[in-house]
Amino acid sequence: MPKCDVLVVGGGPAGMAAAVTASQLGLSVEMIEQRRTLGGAFFRQPIEGVRPIPQRASVKARWHKLSADMSRAPVRIHYGCVFLGVDSDGFVLFEDRQVGEVVRCAARAVIIATGAIEKVHPIPGWDRPGVSTAGGLQVMMKETGQAPKGRILLAGNGPLLIAAAAQMAMVGNPPVAIVESGDPMRPGLTGLGLLVAPYLLVEAFGFLRAVYGAGVPWLRGARIEGIEAHAQGLQATVVRRNGERSAFVVDRVGLHEGIRSNDMGLPAIADASTSSPIVIRAGDCSEPLGALAAEADGALAARKVAALLGHGQSRGGEQALLGRLRQAQAVLAKLFAPTIAPLDVPDHTTLCRCEGRTIGDLKNLVAGADLKSGREVKHNGRFSMGSCQGRFCAANTAELMTRLRPGAPPVVASDLTGQRWPLRPVSIAALVAATKVKAPVD
Ligand SMILES: Cc1cc2nc3c(=O)[nH]c(=O)nc-3n(C[C@H](O)[C@H](O)[C@H](O)COP(=O)(O)OP(=O)(O)OC[C@H]3O[C@@H](n4cnc5c(N)ncnc54)[C@H](O)[C@@H]3O)c2cc1C
Repeated sequence: MPKCDVLVVGGGPAGMAAAVTASQLGLSVEMIEQRRTLGGAFFRQPIEGVRPIPQRASVKARWHKLSADMSRAPVRIHYGCVFLGVDSDGFVLFEDRQVGEVVRCAARAVIIATGAIEKVHPIPGWDRPGVSTAGGLQVMMKETGQAPKGRILLAGNGPLLIAAAAQMAMVGNPPVAIVESGDPMRPGLTGLGLLVAPYLLVEAFGFLRAVYGAGVPWLRGARIEGIEAHAQGLQATVVRRNGERSAFVVDRVGLHEGIRSNDMGLPAIADASTSSPIVIRAGDCSEPLGALAAEADGALAARKVAALLGHGQSRGGEQALLGRLRQAQAVLAKLFAPTIAPLDVPDHTTLCRCEGRTIGDLKNLVAGADLKSGREVKHNGRFSMGSCQGRFCAANTAELMTRLRPGAPPVVASDLTGQRWPLRPVSIAALVAATKVKAPVD
């Protein structure tokens, strides 16, 4: 059974910075990462033998420093291992997918850095083959070094659409257009707020230059109304702020409505020195503020854990940097605030893809006078009941339940999913085998 001071979950920028800092502060550190490489979403590494996509020199330099620090730190990394939770005896459970076993680990502290997931709003056709998230296309590019093939339309909200479009342009297949519900270019001084984080401004100008240079139309104040099958691929209907409609026939659509913490089922934060184990979250899974902030937050989490474990107080510049990046994200949120009202979504639209449940099914279920709880909607209506266990649909279902019942207490995703381990499906046999292992005696 692995035994350490700190177990870091997730090998993205937050987890890597946490592991490096904790080991520099004299703690024994182990890390689990579900993939075979470190880097997370932002620093996603290409598969073997593939040339990475072009990146700014500053991004490359940050990755080189982080990975060099990591390789120098005496951190044992368990690749292909998925965090399942913390059991009632205080042991961390993870599944080693390389051998198909559940492992129990005794750690004094756990720093959870499982990142973020993308938000996608249900629209007719969002579940068709050929439709994915924009970040998914971006990550695929980073792994394969190639642009996704065919005609691609990116749509939704937020700066990631521009980043993904710019990267597609740089690798030779710019999207046919970007459909953006906000209008960050409307006149005003809001954008000046980004001066608190000049790094982001430089990044934004670089992306905009690539997008405009490739002649990609950026339709602001617009939304996709639906995606239908078409003889030549997929047809996406776009509605502009002034009510005008147009259509794009493409091979793929990348949807994106921002990101949210990947925190489904995570154990509660336990950050007292008496907690056993101490549990802290870092990076996007604590607050989605971007890669630079994730790195700072990881280091900060490690300092906090070191102090709680009696390894002395230490200070870095992370708090100040995080403060500036938080301000910058607030400015971005204002800049990208939708300038077109949400469109009516028809009842036949799929809400829960795993179980094939629609918006109409949910409306019928919550129509009565009795206020069904999130658990009842899950068990009676099978929303969030399928193989993703609500990872993708619970937030949308909760949001729609809240909108359908004005005045009733708001519903949140965890009302449907619960907040308990195992985070991912695992066989009972593997769990039982793991619990037979005796705890180590100090
Ligand atoms: C699809 C996508 C695209 C993005 N693109 C950009 C971009 O272009 N520019 C930008 O600034 N920001 C982007 N972001 C946000 C950016 O990636 C993050 O801010 C940054 O990477 C966060 O770092 P992190 O370490 O908190 O999380 P991540 O980088 O997401 O790392 C989390 C790590 O945890 C691992 N993990 C998750 N769950 C488990 C588990 N149960 N067990 C074991 N390991 C687990 C994951 O495999 C991953 O390696 C993107 C985010 C997403 C989701």
